[in-house]
Order: sequence, then structure tokens, then C-alpha cells
Amino acid sequence: MHEVFAGREVLLGESTKVRRLLPNLGRRLVGAWCFADHYGPDDIAAGPGMQVPPHPHMGLQTVSWLLAGEVHHRDSLGSDQVIRAGELGLMTAGEAIAHAEQSPASHPALLHGVQLWVALPDAARQVAPAWAHHAELPALTDTGLTATVIMGSLAGAVSPGQTHSPLVGADLALDAGAQALLPLEPDFEHAVLAMSGSLEVDGVEVAPGSMLYLGCGRRDLRVRSTDGARALLLGGEPFDEQIVMWWNFVARTNDEIVAARADWADGNRFGVVRGYSGDPLPAPPLPAGRLKPGGRTR
Ligand code: MN
Repeated sequence: MHEVFAGREVLLGESTKVRRLLPNLGRRLVGAWCFADHYGPDDIAAGPGMQVPPHPHMGLQTVSWLLAGEVHHRDSLGSDQVIRAGELGLMTAGEAIAHAEQSPASHPALLHGVQLWVALPDAARQVAPAWAHHAELPALTDTGLTATVIMGSLAGAVSPGQTHSPLVGADLALDAGAQALLPLEPDFEHAVLAMSGSLEVDGVEVAPGSMLYLGCGRRDLRVRSTDGARALLLGGEPFDEQIVMWWNFVARTNDEIVAARADWADGNRFGVVRGYSGDPLPAPPLPAGRLKPGGRTR
């Protein structure tokens, strides 16, 4: 199966344009991955860079991954961490957390990365919120390819990031002229998000900022690059729960979303992000009808 999705441009915070790959018009989920934004490379030397004020999350994990630049993470647990390229920033929202993300006042010129969410399965969505930062991650190498395991496992290499369902998230760095075979878990569904350079996956060209969905049942994946490339492999056991995703929340029912929105507006449940100078983000208005649960495919 080959489904190519182009990113949809969205403005994040005040100044960062992102390309949204998940959810898209065809799919809500790849494994438990329920959200994928790719941004940059942007030259932010003369500007503030990323400025996302405090906002709440529940029912998901956020995965921050940078190819270039730095992002300063602060959350309502008191975490205060600058994430650099090649380091995993993993926030488990569980029942409730709030965080802010911004480029440090003094920052590198280039900002390039992805912001990903993993939907928590029903059994884990009420877990206590947690923040983890992992600077050391395992990697697999093949001729011209380095696959860094950000989340879950790939061919026996396991990320230290805590997961709650079987999945994989891996950064693929291909040298110019690379031709490699990547071993996959056949029970997983997979997609590849191209971030830079020239990339061919299973014979299909994938342009930077777009995503190729590959379905289930693959034991390996052929990847090639003429000029060198960076890409992200996302996969996991098909997530067979119905979810309601609205704004920054993953829930199961409309009423849970309505309650979470009210709690954020009232300053309840999600806590306070200290150290961020500026107002928190207000939630957008709710849509007119009730939000309906949806599954993997649309
Ligand atoms: Mn967030």
C-alpha cells in the first residue's frame, strides 16, 4: 500500500508555520501516533522563533524531536529543559498537564523539527503526568543509513522513552547514495515522513514535508537517497480504539472534552506553567455539534 499525504500548512503559536501530516484527510492514526507536525528548516536568527504559550494536554504523550535548533520546554510539574537536536523530549500528559515551548532568547539561527503525539490507550490515559528528557538514544546502522530509535523499538533496539502501546518512532539519516533495507515489525502499520533531502521509500519518491503511508504486514522497507535525506519512520500496532481528538486533548467522549475545556478556562486540573512570561493560550470555541469518536481510518 502506498498513500502519499502532503502536509497542510498551519500557524502554530505566534510565528511558527508547520506542515500537519497527522491527522490528515485519509487517516487519524498510524499505530498510536495521532498527530504529526513538521516545521522548518526556518532561519529564526532575526526573530523570536517558536513561541507557544502555556496550553493543556490530556490523554496523550508529546514527542519533541529536533534536527536543528533548540526548544525550551516548561511544564506544570516544574520541568524546565532545553531540548537540543538529537535529544528526545517526552511529555506524558496522562490525566492532565500544561506546558509552554519557546525558542530560547539566544538561539541558533536554524530551527527544524517535528512535534508528535501518541494517543494513550484507555488503560493508560489516566496515568500521572510525567516529563522525561533522553539525550542518549540507540541507533541501528546499515550502509549509508543511521536509524535512531526515538520511541518504542526497531529491530531489537529499544528507546528509553516510556511507551504504553507497541510502536516505533525512528529518525532515518541517509547519506548521499544510500541504499538500505530497514527491518520492520510485520504486525505494525507504518508511515515515513520526509523532513529534508531526496528520499525514495519502496520505490516511491517522498518530498520533504510529505508522508507516505505503507499499511501493515511489511517485514522490511527499502530506502534510498541520491543527495542525502532525513526522514521519520512512524509505526505501531493498529490502534483499534475510537478516540475524540479536539484542540490539545485526546479523549473518548464529547463530554470529557467539554469538561477539560472548562477546567482549563477555570484554572483547574492542568496546573500552572511557571517561568513563562505571558498569558496562557485560551481554548478555541467548541464546534456547534457534539464531537464524535472516530477510528483509524476516516
Ligand atoms: Mn503542546
